[in-house]
Amino acid sequence: MAYPPSYYAATANDAPAILALKGEVSSDVCVIGAGYTGLTAALHLAERGYKVTVLEAERIGWGASGRNGGQLGVGQRKDQRELEMRLGKEWAHRLWDLGVESNALVKHLIARHEIDCDLKPGLLQAAWKPGDAVWLQSEVEHLAKEYDYTKMRYVPRDEMHAMVATQCYHGGILEEAGAHLHPLNYALGLARAAREKGVAIHEKTRVLDVTHEDPATVKTANGTVRARHVVLACNAYLGKLEPRVAGAIMPINNFLLATEPLGEEARKLIRDDVCVQDTKFVIDYYRLSADGRLIFGGGESYSPNLPQDLAAFVRKPMLRVFPQLADKRIDYAWSGAVAITLKRMPHFGRLAPNVIFAHGYSGQGINIATLGGKLAAEAVAGQAERFDVMANLKTPKFPGGTLLRYPGLVAGMIFYALKDRLP
Ligand SMILES: Cc1cc2nc3c(=O)[nH]c(=O)nc-3n(C[C@H](O)[C@H](O)[C@H](O)COP(=O)(O)OP(=O)(O)OC[C@H]3O[C@@H](n4cnc5c(N)ncnc54)[C@H](O)[C@@H]3O)c2cc1C
Repeated sequence: MAYPPSYYAATANDAPAILALKGEVSSDVCVIGAGYTGLTAALHLAERGYKVTVLEAERIGWGASGRNGGQLGVGQRKDQRELEMRLGKEWAHRLWDLGVESNALVKHLIARHEIDCDLKPGLLQAAWKPGDAVWLQSEVEHLAKEYDYTKMRYVPRDEMHAMVATQCYHGGILEEAGAHLHPLNYALGLARAAREKGVAIHEKTRVLDVTHEDPATVKTANGTVRARHVVLACNAYLGKLEPRVAGAIMPINNFLLATEPLGEEARKLIRDDVCVQDTKFVIDYYRLSADGRLIFGGGESYSPNLPQDLAAFVRKPMLRVFPQLADKRIDYAWSGAVAITLKRMPHFGRLAPNVIFAHGYSGQGINIATLGGKLAAEAVAGQAERFDVMANLKTPKFPGGTLLRYPGLVAGMIFYALKDRLP
């Protein structure tokens, strides 16, 4: 089965389809979902000597891991000052340490397993409003003072304009450790590394039911896995598999496009080939691909249905930032589902002592989902301390549960989206 059409699917490294599960197998661990969470859980478990089976409903990286913006951040999705206020300094420090580790872990896995995924350094956060620039500057100072973190610097307005060919921004932060990559090829590389360590992966194998006794029984249409441990790693694509955790995450569609290759113009748009994300609630995020296209994510839609013309939909916010691209062809446009939580921090935990889950990365999963899989592996191996730093974060359910959560969320999103438009 083909991947949904996207620039990433069109430029994916060779990855022959893997056979679906047939019959009964037993395994130490069954991982459900072959995105970054599931794949890094499997890889780390195999390195610890566990026999691991990964079941994927579609293809490896078919979910958000094969469709995202490719922007590798540092730290957690929420800024440290907010985490300090919400959770206290000690907990915020632990989260920061994990967030810094997550960024390094992605680079380490890419280097160690020689994953060919166009990794390039640098992430620029761009202030959409003057007040955002003041806030970004104070964030740099705070991280240096409180966390001794100096791998970022404030970029004043004039320099921003030299770095990115738009007048939209009032300042920014350049994160040296930030980076960007081809997300699907990163996922495919993780899968290759996991298989080389002995992990059995089955594509086109949708899990229909999981029982929670020990060993657990994981049922699919044509096969069953009996496993001492289960790691649930389905994120926004969880569907109805596990209603007890589904209410804590909300799948939200997000949209991207890729222009035609821009040739020499590409580096005029983004001088240093870093990735860029702005400070709006409905965020614009973009970067150059290896072949010089602009890959731009943005736009807002509060309907569960996809816009009819995705390319036209994302082109609008792209032209607000880069009107000079008006005559450029859009070669690809696609969507993917982000799993957000009410607090915009991940949701980790246990459904039974031997069934754990990690999801809800709220749009920042390249680093945190990669780490999530590693922490899940540690938890399976009986070293749950770091997994529990995440699992102890309180994740309220969306009001209205899985059936009625949407209207409340939409009202909230529209409110914040309107705030983006105010000066
Ligand atoms: C459009 C978009 C842009 C994004 N941009 C960025 C970005 O620039 N930077 C960043 O850090 N993060 C970004 N993210 C977030 C990031 O992609 C995700 O947080 C991350 O990929 C989550 O990985 P995962 O493995 O948890 O989930 P996924 O990659 O979604 O994988 C879940 C897998 O589970 C499978 N599955 C579901 N149900 C079953 C079942 N019953 N049986 C078997 N398999 C099942 C699915 O088919 C899927 O392959 C973006 C997300 C989207 C959608």
